[in-house]
Amino acid sequence: MRIEEEVKLDFKDVLFRPKRSTLGSRAKVELKRSYRYRHSGRSSESVPIIAANMDTVGTFEMAAALARHDMHVALHKHYRVEDYVAFFHEDNRARHRNAFYSLGITEPDLAKFNAVRAATGDAIEFVCIDVANGYTETFLDFVKRFREAHPNITLMAGNVVTADITEALILAGADIVKVGIGPGSVCTTRKMTGVGYPQLSAIIECADAAHGLGGHICGDGGCTVPGDVAKGFGGGADFMMLGGMLAAHDESGGEVVERDGRTYRRFYGMSSDVAMEKYAGGVAKYRASEGKEVLLEARGPVDHTAQEILGGVRSTCTYVGARTLKALSKCTTFVRVTQQINEVYGRSV
Ligand code: 5GP
Repeated sequence: MRIEEEVKLDFKDVLFRPKRSTLGSRAKVELKRSYRYRHSGRSSESVPIIAANMDTVGTFEMAAALARHDMHVALHKHYRVEDYVAFFHEDNRARHRNAFYSLGITEPDLAKFNAVRAATGDAIEFVCIDVANGYTETFLDFVKRFREAHPNITLMAGNVVTADITEALILAGADIVKVGIGPGSVCTTRKMTGVGYPQLSAIIECADAAHGLGGHICGDGGCTVPGDVAKGFGGGADFMMLGGMLAAHDESGGEVVERDGRTYRRFYGMSSDVAMEKYAGGVAKYRASEGKEVLLEARGPVDHTAQEILGGVRSTCTYVGARTLKALSKCTTFVRVTQQINEVYGRSV
């Protein structure tokens, strides 16, 4: 047994140190980023925030709404083939241009992808290969084989939290490594297994490893407020993926529940009992659920939330003197803190 003594950080452990700047207005801050991907050779220009591939977040409706902000969606993997085909066939490329097709590493997942791909030609630009534990040889092999079969697809793969495996995934064919084990709002991995890594440090360390090889990373999970999204970017994330912050909107999917005159939406982890009952016919005997279900008050159209998130990140940039999101990490000095927010009045009305 070994203990690593170095302190690792979560979003809640730091704040940005404000810096003098000559920036006029936050409206002038450019949030779009242009990337060229190591393996696919493709380029993209977008606001690099991705709605998570959960069936109560990453929907077709969410893709359409976030496309208006140049943001991304990772579609959940439970639509039918014909639905994906219709989506990626849409004449309006603007709607699906930023969408990631997500899959796991099972044979049925791959067969489904191949069927959609065969029917839609080159329409799918981004793919997300997603497993709970990205440390297995099976996963690395799958990424390698997928890359060989699809040299021109921009491939995101995860999840992992350390530099060594980030490098291995990039060398195996991933363009973007997805980073995060256990920080999610409806994730119970840390409770059930005791496994995890503080999310901001995971982002900082994996970004450093990826950037050295010309790869990119996506910080996935653990953002609760726009400031956390900014901290991820400040720590070096090229993309940030959000679940809970984009859940419970009109576009999020998730069953609507009326209770005591209030409207709620169900939001649950993709490894929760609910999800496994729905899609896998129950929790297999050898495993435990690693996600939970919550009821969130319905939040209306996602447009307003998207604007709040983008407004928050723009404002961070002005506080530290970054004219562009690209400059944010270079302008970032984090200060370690023991208190984040003054909670004396609880929630505002
Ligand atoms: P959030 O933004 O809600 O904090 O985190 C979203 C992320 O949580 C997702 O992108 C995914 O990586 C992770 N996640 C979603 N469902 C589950 C689950 O059931 N179990 C675990 N361990 N993680 C989940």
